[in-house]
Amino acid sequence: MSEALTRLHTMALAMAGEAYTWTAPNGATIGSRPRSDAMPGLTAWLIAQQGGICAACGEALDGTERIEVCHIVRGRERGYVMGNLYAGHTSCNNIDATIYGSVVPLSSLVRADLVPVIPIPSHSQLKALSNNTDKRARRLALRQAAQSR
Ligand SMILES: [Zn+2]
Repeated sequence: MSEALTRLHTMALAMAGEAYTWTAPNGATIGSRPRSDAMPGLTAWLIAQQGGICAACGEALDGTERIEVCHIVRGRERGYVMGNLYAGHTSCNNIDATIYGSVVPLSSLVRADLVPVIPIPSHSQLKALSNNTDKRARRLALRQAAQSR
């Protein structure tokens, strides 16, 4: 497991707070869920970063099963921060929620090494990724988002 992920995990736990509200002292919310028009792009970006592998089980995210954005430290509407998200099978996400509840231990992820520990692209970049249904254009946009970090 990478030191960067361990450090980000500690930060995520601190930011989430005891009630996992992800609320800063000044009332601002931390890591708000991207708007729905950016979510497909976020999912695509995570899948690309992970080389098409689910970080929870280590199996392929090949579209035979539903894929979703999974949190390590709970935050349905929040907690969309670097190191706290990965693309995973819906069933893997459900299992983690049932077994672990609010915090998925990093040690339980078969491929924790795949959890992206780099900044999440901006909303406009994710939105552009979402709008790209053409495979080539989508790949190009993914590459550009990766380069402009
Ligand atoms: Zn999985």
